Amino acid sequence: MSSAKSSAATTSHLLPVFARADVAFERGEGAWLISTTGERYLDFTSGVAVNSLGHCHPHLVEALQQQATKLWHMSNLFKSPDGERLAARLCEQSFADFVFFANSGAEAMECALKMTRHHHFSKGNPERTRIITFAGAFHGRTLGTLAATGSAKYLEGYGEPLDGFDQVPLGDLDAVKKAIGPTTAGILIEPLQGEGGVRSPEPAFFRALRDLCDSNGLLLIFDEVQTGMGRTGELFAYQRIGVAPDIMSLAKALGGGFPIGACLATADAAEGMAPGSHGSTFGGNPLAVAAANAVLDVMLEPGFLDHVRRMSLLLKQKLAGIVDRYPQVLSEIRGEGLLIGLKAVVPSTDLVAALRDQNLLTVGAGDNVVRLLPPLIVDEVEIDEAVTRLERACGVLSGQAAQREAV
Ligand SMILES: *Cc1c(COP(=O)(O)O)cnc(C)c1O
Repeated sequence: MSSAKSSAATTSHLLPVFARADVAFERGEGAWLISTTGERYLDFTSGVAVNSLGHCHPHLVEALQQQATKLWHMSNLFKSPDGERLAARLCEQSFADFVFFANSGAEAMECALKMTRHHHFSKGNPERTRIITFAGAFHGRTLGTLAATGSAKYLEGYGEPLDGFDQVPLGDLDAVKKAIGPTTAGILIEPLQGEGGVRSPEPAFFRALRDLCDSNGLLLIFDEVQTGMGRTGELFAYQRIGVAPDIMSLAKALGGGFPIGACLATADAAEGMAPGSHGSTFGGNPLAVAAANAVLDVMLEPGFLDHVRRMSLLLKQKLAGIVDRYPQVLSEIRGEGLLIGLKAVVPSTDLVAALRDQNLLTVGAGDNVVRLLPPLIVDEVEIDEAVTRLERACGVLSGQAAQREAV
C-alpha cells in the first residue's frame, strides 16, 4: 500500500482540518504580529483568547527562559512545588479548593465531566451521570467534550455521540427544569459563549441555575476556558455575574501561549477523587506551570483588570459609532471586557477577510459574529488604530453592497 500515497498531500502535509488564511507570522510584539513577508498586523485574535498578555511579554519570556535552563518536564510521580504554588494562587483568587492541571481546554473539560460523575458515584448515586448543556455551546473536540458541545456540524461522521448530555435552549429555565431527572448530575454552561457567537443569558439566569443545582443536589460547572483569566474584565467571568460554580475549567489564556488547562473544584465537588481517579502525563509540567505563574504575576498586579475594563469601554464606545454609520455591514455589539462580538449583516467570513486586508486580525464565531479578542494589554492608540481599520473595511464592504444593489 505504500505506493498508494495520495498526491493531494504534496502541497501540505498538515491534516487539512483548518481553513488557514494565506499569511504566516514569524514574530510578535505586544498586540502586533509581523508576517514572514515583513508586514505588520494588529492582532485582535490573541491566538483565540490565548496570548492575553500580547506576544513576547518580557516577564513571560524571562520566566520561560529561566525554567528552560532548570527542568522542562517532571512527571506527576513527584512533588511539584511550582504547581502547588500555582494551584494555591488560583484557589486564593476563586471559589475553588483543588486544581487539576491538564494541557488544553478540552482536557480541562474532560476532568470537569469525569469529576461530576465521580462526585455522585462517591456519594452513593452512581446512576447520576447526565449533564444538562446549552445550545450554541462549545466545550472542545474530544469525543466527550464534543458530545457536550452537541453541535450536529461537529458531530457528523463520528458515530454515536457519547451518551450523557441533555441539551436545552440557552436561557430557557423551564427547559432546564424539565430536563432535570433522577439521573442528572450537573449543569454545564459558559458564562459567555465564545465560539457560539458571544452570547450570554442574564445574570438572573445563572442565579436560577445555582438555585436549581442547590435544591436538586447537582453540580454547577462553568466552562471558563475562553472567558477566564481576565478576558471579561474580572479574573473569572463568574465573578462579574456574582454566581460561583462548583467546578470550573480554564485553559486558553492561563499559560499566556504555553499550553496548559486547569479544572478547579470545591472540596465537595472533588470528593472521592483519589490517586488513580484521573491523571495526565504532561499536566502541570514545569514549563507550563512557570508560564502560568508568570501570567498570574502580571494579571494580579493592581490596576491590570481596571485597564481591561477601561479598554473595553473605550472600544465599545467607538464600535457603537461604526455600527451606527454602517448598518449595511454591522448590526450589533455584544460581549464583556475584551471578548467582543460584532454581529455582521454581511457574511462574517467576508468581514474577517476585509479586516485582514486592512491588516487587522479577528476571529469568526457562530451566529454570523466576528470576535474582537485584543490582548488585554492593548492600549488606546492600538484601539484607535483597530477602529480606523474596521471603519475602512466597513467602507469597502458597504461600497460592495451598494454596487450589488445597483445591478
Ligand atoms: C477553546 C474552548 C474549549 C476547547 O479548548 P481546546 O484547548 O481547544 O481544547 C473549550 N471550551 C471553550 C469555552 C473554549 O472556548
